Amino acid sequence: MSIELKHVNYTYMAGTPFEHQALQDVSLTITEGSFTAIAGHTGSGKSTLVQHLNGLLHPSDGQVLVDGVDLEGHDKARKKAAHAASQQVGMVFQYAETQLFEETIAEDIAFGPRNQGLTEAAVQERVREAMELTGLDYKMFKDRSPFQLSGGQMRRAAIAGILALHPRYLVLDEPTAGLDPSGRKALIRQIQSLHKEWNLTILFVSHSMEDIARYADRIIVMNKGSVMYNGAPKEVFAHYQELEKIGLAAPQVTYIMHDLKEKGLPV
Ligand code: ADP
Ligand code: MG
Repeated sequence: MSIELKHVNYTYMAGTPFEHQALQDVSLTITEGSFTAIAGHTGSGKSTLVQHLNGLLHPSDGQVLVDGVDLEGHDKARKKAAHAASQQVGMVFQYAETQLFEETIAEDIAFGPRNQGLTEAAVQERVREAMELTGLDYKMFKDRSPFQLSGGQMRRAAIAGILALHPRYLVLDEPTAGLDPSGRKALIRQIQSLHKEWNLTILFVSHSMEDIARYADRIIVMNKGSVMYNGAPKEVFAHYQELEKIGLAAPQVTYIMHDLKEKGLPV
């Protein structure tokens, strides 16, 4: 099982003077069970790319397949299959907490599962489970207003709302943006435990090469709408000079290893 992009192009506002090609011939595979990071400077196409993974955007050219199903169902029968496939992909947008809107945390998280037609008991079970998975104590937080939470807690509540839908793939667009260092660390750890303990396939967009190096088993580097590198962290960071040229620093340890090698040490 996997998510597959085949020669995807995407152009915003095609046919207008503002036409802009944001993705160019992007082909890649996200294998089930992996923890993949997408890096790249601002405007390199990361958010455009991830919005293709649950069918929010459809390619101008090319295909997106989730478990072999084309997300752009081209007729009624295939649209149904496409919708079902897209539900396997949970999408946490950048600053997801701005989309919290119910009066209580529990009601907000319940919204998605309730729409899926689950029984009320099953919905409550999903809410409890999703809160625990994101480190929000159920009893303590369930009746609180989203607006009584810290920034980090609000973001967790937003992620819980997605987890409550039981996706198999979890896509997070810059999930740590705007959090303080301890909030970032805690959230990344939480995401890692979702990967390890809940077997969720994780795809996360990040600027922090330190986070990426520590947690990802695969790194995709985007540059000007194209895939520049796609490989294991070690392979990608071997290109640290090229990464610097596009404004991405490799993690500190890469430089240390490089210096030691230059001094002739066997590292
Ligand atoms: P990233 O997430 O890597 O910062 P984006 O995918 O948001 O990059 O943007 C890629 C390119 O597409 C940028 O040049 C951006 O200005 C452009 N873009 C993004 N969203 C839109 C939009 N809604 N309309 C027009 N252009 C857009
Ligand atoms: Mg973005």
